[in-house]
Amino acid sequence: MATIFTKIIRGELPATIVYQDDQVTAFKDIHPVAPVHILIVPNIEIPNVNSVEPEQEALLGHMFTVARKVAEQQGIAQSGYRLLINNGPDSGQEVYHLHMHLIGGRRLGPMVVRREE
Ligand code: AMP
Repeated sequence: MATIFTKIIRGELPATIVYQDDQVTAFKDIHPVAPVHILIVPNIEIPNVNSVEPEQEALLGHMFTVARKVAEQQGIAQSGYRLLINNGPDSGQEVYHLHMHLIGGRRLGPMVVRREE
């Protein structure tokens, strides 16, 4: 079964794609948490960081150079942005196809809200 992101990458599901090459695809998050919220996704299915392999290091590094390009394209390279990867249940990961959130366009506040114990 293809993941929802694979279907987007193949053009089988609609999405606003802002960047695509032979290794990664970047598209707008359907439920944005900030004015800019883009998902940067490898074209191959890697469920999450627990599954990454040493031979994928070039691909994983490429996700960062694409993040740089997309941040510039979206006009937030200088104002700042956050890159975030959820991994497993405690993170709230919903889609088990590795993806980097690129979030910006406003002051983002603390990375994780401190919980009163
Ligand atoms: P995560 O919780 O890190 O797995 O994030 C999954 C993200 O995918 C969420 O921010 C969702 O809003 C987003 N998402 C789910 N379905 C779609 C879709 N069809 N198009 C764009 N973004 C999606």
